[in-house]
Amino acid sequence: MTDTLNENPGCLGAIFNLFGGKKKVKRVDSSADTTIDEPEEVFPYRLRDDFLSPAEFSFYRILSSLTGTERVVQSKVRLADLFFVARPNENAKYYNKITAKHLDFLVCDATTMKPLLGIELDDASHQRSERIERDEFVDKVFQAASLPLLHVPNQRSYSTREIDALISPHIDITNSHKETSPAESKPPAVQISENKPASPAAAPICPKCGIPMVLRIVTQGEHKGKKFYGCPNFPRCREVKPYSNQS
Ligand SMILES: [Zn+2]
Repeated sequence: MTDTLNENPGCLGAIFNLFGGKKKVKRVDSSADTTIDEPEEVFPYRLRDDFLSPAEFSFYRILSSLTGTERVVQSKVRLADLFFVARPNENAKYYNKITAKHLDFLVCDATTMKPLLGIELDDASHQRSERIERDEFVDKVFQAASLPLLHVPNQRSYSTREIDALISPHIDITNSHKETSPAESKPPAVQISENKPASPAAAPICPKCGIPMVLRIVTQGEHKGKKFYGCPNFPRCREVKPYSNQS
């Protein structure tokens, strides 16, 4: 697992700063009584003028107008920020496979930011063999996590009707009011006071992650003191199950 540094790039940055970071330092040379300016590190970063390509921007504007205030559209979403790995210790290679991959667009519920639909604009590069392999991998990632992914052929521009027809089977824009209200879908305000693995026989399995859940206690609110099972991957996974003394 030599790739685990990928998970913590801040670590390398800290090491670099310890040894090589150059700063503009005024140093007084006592013998000559002069002030010497050390050269300042010049960062080579420049702002891109093509953050979204014309096709991406055309698509983005129409998608945003269709989704209205009920949904929000994110662009260039890193897969590792959208998905997590259920058993990170034994699945490090699966994490590394998604750290450098990005999704073109993500539609989320505006009140909960729950991801609803991923969208990829497929240009000619998607016919190259390594790109096909990458697309197949990404399709499987979405399938595993039960998030729909839509492939849209890349065009110079799009019409509203065209995009509406593509996304409406996946997102019910017109009837979005009927869905769960924000109050219902809000996760319970629970502070975790215990994170012990429950005894293997009793511990239920997290339906999302497939790993034994842990016993926790509610520390605030009207359910204070109550025990429940939570997923060890919390907060990335918010699955809970009731705890019963009898079982
Ligand atoms: Zn879980």
